[in-house]
Amino acid sequence: MEVKELESRVDDSIMSQITSLGHEQLVVCHDKDTGLKALIGIHNTVLGPALGGTRMWNYANESEAIRDVLRLSRGMTYKAAVTGLNLGGGKAVLIGDAKTMKTEAFLRRFGKFIESLNGKYITAEDVNMKMSDMEYIAMETKHVTGLPIYRGGSGDPSPVTAYGTYVGMKAMAKKAYGNESLENKKIWVQGVGQVGMYLTEHLRKENATVYISDIDEEKIAKVAKATGAKGVSAEEAYDLDIDVYAPCALGATLNDDTIPRLQCSIIAGAANNQLEDEIKHGYDLMKKGILYAPDFVINAGGLINVYLDYMKEYNKERSYSMAEKIYDNCASIVRVAEEENLSPQEAAIHIGDKRISEVGNVKLPR
Ligand code: NAD
Repeated sequence: MEVKELESRVDDSIMSQITSLGHEQLVVCHDKDTGLKALIGIHNTVLGPALGGTRMWNYANESEAIRDVLRLSRGMTYKAAVTGLNLGGGKAVLIGDAKTMKTEAFLRRFGKFIESLNGKYITAEDVNMKMSDMEYIAMETKHVTGLPIYRGGSGDPSPVTAYGTYVGMKAMAKKAYGNESLENKKIWVQGVGQVGMYLTEHLRKENATVYISDIDEEKIAKVAKATGAKGVSAEEAYDLDIDVYAPCALGATLNDDTIPRLQCSIIAGAANNQLEDEIKHGYDLMKKGILYAPDFVINAGGLINVYLDYMKEYNKERSYSMAEKIYDNCASIVRVAEEENLSPQEAAIHIGDKRISEVGNVKLPR
């Protein structure tokens, strides 16, 4: 059943939402002493424990937080499934102001809630969480991954995410132009934070012409100076005559307003949830002849990194060699999409569902 169809059936009750989106569990956590209010979404654990980061956000209301955790944890299921990892999909959200509420006790209490799930959910760093926050959480639970290198963890996953995005972009170029080279291609990297910065470095090394935008002018100046990329204003960038658009900032940048403006032939970037409407905008891009690399396929480098860390098998070489396979994953998704006349987004979801179902059957007793 497609997401759009699912969502149209969803009413506001929690049970209705988790039933429709296919979640196994939604854990609601509260601690009156620290003010902790957290939600842990466990979407699917057929392939393995539900791994996904914790983010903190000042949600306008609880329904928004529930919607976010359900959508994000479902996304993690598919990211792991198509990447070939033995992980399920999970995500946690902490509700409130990240600047004022994250005390040691608050974070450790949250760690205790994670511990109480006995490894069914494994957490990592996400939006508005710092490594120091994760260290507090790790004082109360062993089910934390992606800790700093000085703690024996795998550290910042952004370089691997950027590398996976880079090789995925090359696979899309091979499909669109018959040649994977990005030399002299005009590429817009939107957002030069951690991932965007490393991606720009890869692209410049290959002599691509790179345009960069960010709401932070200082970041543009820094990355432009270091790499020779050209700074552009966030708004004018959508109208640029380019070959590739690489969203590396926010979600939902592919929508009714932006798609008609885009003049690229490929979209390949690391931002999560790029399509505002997973179905409609996936098909709008297809109709426009733009090849889209589904975000959860191309940005899986970070998940590969924390997966190896969690398995106690992390080393940098292994992480990069697994991320290299994102090239093949992107190539097979666009092939299946073409063969079955699906958008790449839908093709990726079908591939993920197939693996979950097949591996799930293997695990059943005989
Ligand atoms: P980051 O916060 O370091 O960088 C994001 C950058 O985008 C910042 O420089 C910010 O100023 C900029 N930005 C925000 N709004 C913008 C706008 N409207 N226009 C242009 N720039 C804007 O984050 P990151 O770790 O580099 O991650 C980038 C994206 O990739 C996020 O969507 C993240 O969820 C996703 N992602 C990251 C990883 C990872 O390993 N870091 C893994 C998977 C997915």
